[in-house]
Amino acid sequence: MKFRLNKREVTDLLKEKGINPTAQRVEIAHLLYQKPQHLSADEILSLLNAEYEQVSQATVYNTLKLFVDKKVVRELIFSSDRIYYDSNTIPHHHFVDIDTGRIFDIPLCIIPVPELDRLNMGDAQILETTLVLRGRFPHRETHVQIQNDLSDHVVKNGERCARESGMNTGIEIGQPSLKSTAS
Ligand SMILES: [Zn+2]
Repeated sequence: MKFRLNKREVTDLLKEKGINPTAQRVEIAHLLYQKPQHLSADEILSLLNAEYEQVSQATVYNTLKLFVDKKVVRELIFSSDRIYYDSNTIPHHHFVDIDTGRIFDIPLCIIPVPELDRLNMGDAQILETTLVLRGRFPHRETHVQIQNDLSDHVVKNGERCARESGMNTGIEIGQPSLKSTAS
């Protein structure tokens, strides 16, 4: 997948996902698609209002719900009061630093997918496998570099990892074609 999309590319992406690209939806998607990142709705709201035009809280919440439904972003629910929106839709796991709350992307193929057929779950269809690892770093100065390196790894190798895991992830894999489908 591709990041640092310009507004025209964001508009085309939204159209391709079947979303009417209103100005505010384009602003929100443009913010999210600058890099692989994990933002709460409140963080998105304050970033938008600092850098873009004023957008209401209701608009942000409704737009994020639409984006999750249309697989423009992934919703990460760590707990009822810790919900994040992940702009990297390639399947991957996460590591949460319990001291800072920072979220790191972990490539899917580094952690083998459990043998779910051994769980005897009948005909359950697993749509997504995502693990959340929790831990801490004794030396925080390397945080940002590690975080960026892991995100890059997921973006560069994520599709191969997802294929190798053999899972139907329920998430669209691959670089979004930016060709507009609007007639
Ligand atoms: Zn992520």
